[in-house]
Amino acid sequence: MIKALKVRLYPDESQKILLEKHFGSCRFVYNHFLDIRNKYYAEHRKDRKKGLTVFDTMKMLTSLKKEKVWLNEINSQSLQHSLVELDKAFRSFFKKNTDYPNFRSKKDNQYFIVSSGFKKDGKKLIIPKFTEGIGYRDGSPIPENIKQIVVARDVDRYFASIHYESDDETHKGRGIIGIDIGIKSFLTTSDGLKIEPLNALRKREKRLKRQQKKLSRKVKGSENRNRQIVRVQKIHQKIRDMRTDFGHKVSTAIAKHYGTVVIEDLNVQGMQRNHHPAKSIADQGWYQFRKMIEYKLQWRDAEIVEIGRFDPSSKICSRCGNTKHELKLSDRVYHCDACGLTMDRDLNAAINIRNIGLIKVGKGIPELTPVESATAAELSKGGLRVATL
Ligand SMILES: [Zn+2]
Repeated sequence: MIKALKVRLYPDESQKILLEKHFGSCRFVYNHFLDIRNKYYAEHRKDRKKGLTVFDTMKMLTSLKKEKVWLNEINSQSLQHSLVELDKAFRSFFKKNTDYPNFRSKKDNQYFIVSSGFKKDGKKLIIPKFTEGIGYRDGSPIPENIKQIVVARDVDRYFASIHYESDDETHKGRGIIGIDIGIKSFLTTSDGLKIEPLNALRKREKRLKRQQKKLSRKVKGSENRNRQIVRVQKIHQKIRDMRTDFGHKVSTAIAKHYGTVVIEDLNVQGMQRNHHPAKSIADQGWYQFRKMIEYKLQWRDAEIVEIGRFDPSSKICSRCGNTKHELKLSDRVYHCDACGLTMDRDLNAAINIRNIGLIKVGKGIPELTPVESATAAELSKGGLRVATL
């Protein structure tokens, strides 16, 4: 199935100029050939020849480019696409589906279409004529099987709508999973998967704190301070990259296997644990992960169910429902005095989260499902620290 993903583009100044030239030239070509087709249509409408074909106009475009040399600065596919669109407008008119085609105005939506020759290069999207690649918003993974890209401007912002062939099947009706988010562990799932934060990321976070402290001691306006600012920025950047990569690996592995993911409301979680020093850092990673998993589930018609603060997931026994009031944050194992259940604390919480989610979506609580071993294998292959409980 063909799906679309819209990403924000961040062109530099010279790229902006070239983008504007593309918008303008595609509009010019459309209007130029609309004029030609208008005349042809007016002359021939009586003898039932309805108009020029798209191939006629493409041939004419080749000679037009010799006359208007500036058109050679523009990706020729995009110019040809204007002709295809013009042809579509005429066909639709001939079928009496739409009115006679209109000229395009500068006030209309500005866009052009690229149908091949694109590549992704790190955080840049390379399209023909833009050899350096245009930066795009981080956090949006560019899909593999791109069929077409529509580049558009909305006032002063640029976007690319990426149309791609997706082999995602629908996950509606697939299994349900509860996720407990943590500080010690990144997350624990209700089927017993524990994912640890990256050691390398932790190290960098510590380094960031050290360097930030150093920065606060530097004299304002000094050369020393400027150098330190750059140092801090670079660590920030590295942390962002690592966190994004980590988030993608984990969210993809989970979204691939489930139809419903139950998760606690993040703000509430933060409020309950805000005495913890690692909170803000953990929260940033979580917020991003939450977004990633949400759109990856959407791709597959899967759903995310959020549960709120009145569901004390960590204190309830997932087997008998007894509430343990004296559970401390340092207690890593949950032991139920009523039924004797002894279980990893986060796993117990994750099972409760899933069960509350099941009630929310109107299903009963099923038997415990076995560990999704495919997910675990995939993540450890990606270099992540994974344990099955
Ligand atoms: Zn119990």
